[in-house]
Amino acid sequence: MKNLWKYISGESKIALTMKQVVLYVTVVMACIHTLLFIIFLYFGVYMMAVVNTLSVSLYLGCLIWLHYEKSPYVVFNLCYAEVIIHAMLATFAVGSSCGFLLYMVCMVPVAYYAAYSFRESEHFVKPVVYVFTTILVFVVSKCAAWVIEPMYNIGNSFFRDIVYIINYLLVVITIVAFMSTFLIQIRTLEELMLRKNQRLEVLSTQDALTGLANRRSINEKYRDIIKKKEAYSVILGDIDDFKQVNDTYGHACGDSVLKSVAEVFKVSVRSGDVVCRWGGEEILVMLPKCNKDTATQIAERIAEGIRKILVISNEGVEVRVTMTFGVAGSDEGRDIKDIVKRADNRLYYGKGHGKNCVVKKDAH
Ligand code: GH3
Ligand code: MG
Ligand code: MG
Repeated sequence: MKNLWKYISGESKIALTMKQVVLYVTVVMACIHTLLFIIFLYFGVYMMAVVNTLSVSLYLGCLIWLHYEKSPYVVFNLCYAEVIIHAMLATFAVGSSCGFLLYMVCMVPVAYYAAYSFRESEHFVKPVVYVFTTILVFVVSKCAAWVIEPMYNIGNSFFRDIVYIINYLLVVITIVAFMSTFLIQIRTLEELMLRKNQRLEVLSTQDALTGLANRRSINEKYRDIIKKKEAYSVILGDIDDFKQVNDTYGHACGDSVLKSVAEVFKVSVRSGDVVCRWGGEEILVMLPKCNKDTATQIAERIAEGIRKILVISNEGVEVRVTMTFGVAGSDEGRDIKDIVKRADNRLYYGKGHGKNCVVKKDAH
C-alpha cells in the first residue's frame, strides 16, 4: 500500500508489477463500491446495497487471492465482469438516468492498461475484445432501460442528477487515476531502459578489469581523432615479464598489477587522450594534437609511474613491474593501422634490447 501511494504520487522509481496493477484495480473498485453502498442505502435501494455488499466481498476475495500469489489475470477478469454486470443491474434497478452505465467507460482504459501490463505473461489480453463486450452490454442495457421500467424510483430528478454527478465524477477520477499511473509506469520504464542502455554502452566499450576503453571501442574514438586531420601520436606499452608475475604470485596478483598500471596511464595522460586496453597486458594511448616528442615525454612519465607501482602479493612479497613502450607519430605511416604497427615494432625492439624503455625510432 505504501508502494502504491509512492507510485501514484510519482515518487517511485520502480515500475508496477502485473500483480500490483491488478491489486490497484481491486483497491480502487472496492473503494468505489463501498461509496455506492452508502448511496444506495441512503436512497433505500436495498437490492443494489446487497449487490454492492457482494461486490465488496468479491474484491476482498480478490485481495486474498492475490495475497496467496494466485493469477492476477483471473482477478482482472473478475473485476471486469463485476463492473459490467453491476452497471447493468444498477441501470435495471434505478434507470439509466443515474449514470451507472458510465462505469463501463472506465473499463476501456483499464482494458488497455491490462493489455500493457500482461504483455509479458502467458495470458494475452486483447483490449478490443473487452471494449467490444463493453459496448455490447452498454447498448443492450440502454435499450432494455427504454423498454423496462426501473425497479426503484429514487426520488426526483434533482436526486437523480446528484447521483449522476457523483457517478460521473467517480468515473472521471478512476480514469484519471489509471491513466496517470499508466503514464508514470511508461515513463519509469523508459527511464529504466535508458539507464540500462547507458550501462550496457559502458559495459560494451569498457574493459571490466581496468576500466579502460576496450579494443572494440577504440575504433570509434580514433575515427573521430583522425577525422580532424590533426597530427597525433600513439604510445603502445607492454608490461615486462608479466607472465612471470602471474606464474610466481598468482593471477589475482597479476590482476592487481594490471589495475595499478591502468591507473598510472589514466593519471598520466591529458583529458582528450584515449587510453585503451589493446591486449592482455598491452595498453595503447592515442594522443590527438600531440607530436612524437611530446608523446615520448608522456611515455617516459608513464614508465616512471609504472616503476613506482608496488603491489603486495598474498604471500606478502613486494611485486614491482616495468613496462616497455613504442611511440609513433601520425606522419610516420599511411593510416592508423600502419602507425600502430610502427609503434609495435619499436616496442618489440625495446623488448629485445633490455626492456623497461621508451623507443621512438626504428632500428637501423
Ligand atoms: P614480455 O616482457 O616479453 O612482454 O613478457 P610477458 O611475460 O609479459 O609476455 P607474454 O606475452 O609471454 O605474457 C603475457 C601474460 O599476460 C600472459 C597472460 O597470462 C597475462 N595476462 C593477459 N591478460 C591478463 C589478465 O587480464 N590478468 C592477468 N593476471 N594476466 C593476464
Ligand atoms: Mg609483456
Ligand atoms: Mg604482450
